[in-house]
Amino acid sequence: MPPTAAARTPRAALAELLAGNRRFVSGQPVHGHDVTAAAAVASGDQQPYAVLLGCIDSRVPLEAIFDQTFGSICVIRTGAHVLDRAVCGSIEYVVGQLGVRLVMVLGHERCGAVGSAVDALRSGRRPGGSLRYVVDRIAPAVHEVGVDDPDAHPLAIRRHVRRTVATLRADDLLAGPVTAGEVAVVGALYDLATGEVALLPEE
Ligand SMILES: [Zn+2]
Repeated sequence: MPPTAAARTPRAALAELLAGNRRFVSGQPVHGHDVTAAAAVASGDQQPYAVLLGCIDSRVPLEAIFDQTFGSICVIRTGAHVLDRAVCGSIEYVVGQLGVRLVMVLGHERCGAVGSAVDALRSGRRPGGSLRYVVDRIAPAVHEVGVDDPDAHPLAIRRHVRRTVATLRADDLLAGPVTAGEVAVVGALYDLATGEVALLPEE
C-alpha cells in the first residue's frame, strides 16, 4: 500500500505499519536506508502516515523494526516513552499539521527505564537529576501493578504503555479527533528476541 493510501484512515495506517513489522521479522525488508531513498523524498512536503513514540533503547530502532523508509513515519523516543510537554506538542503537530491519523506507543520487553523505576520504588532511592523526572513518570504504572509483585517489571512495562496511551487519548488537541474516530492512539509491545510487535488489547 502506498503511504498516501495508508494515511487515509487509522486502520489503514495500522495495517501498513504491522505489514512492515512482518517484513522485518521475515527477513524480507523492502526499504534500504541509503541516500537514494532520502533524495526521493527530499523535494516537496513530507506526508508521513503514522507517528511512533518509543523507548530510547538501542535495540529498538523503530524505522528498522517496521521496515519504514524516509518520509513514512515520524518517530519520537524517550526513556520508556515518557511523555512531557515537548513530546505531546510534537505529536499534536504531527496529527494537527501533517494530518497523521495513527499514533502508536511502543513499549518493549526488559525495558531498563521501567526496571529503574521498579528498583527505585523497591529501594526507596530515587535517582537525582532529570532521571528522577523520567522514573517518577513511570512510577504510577509500577504502583498499579504492585511494587512487590515478582512480575512487577514485565507487568509495569505493559501498564505504562496503557497509561501513556490513555494520557495521549485525553490530550487537549488529540481528544476530539480520537473521539470522532479520525485519529487512533494504540499501544503495542516489541519482543526483543523475535522482533515481533504485538498490539496490546484494549481493556
Ligand atoms: Zn526501554
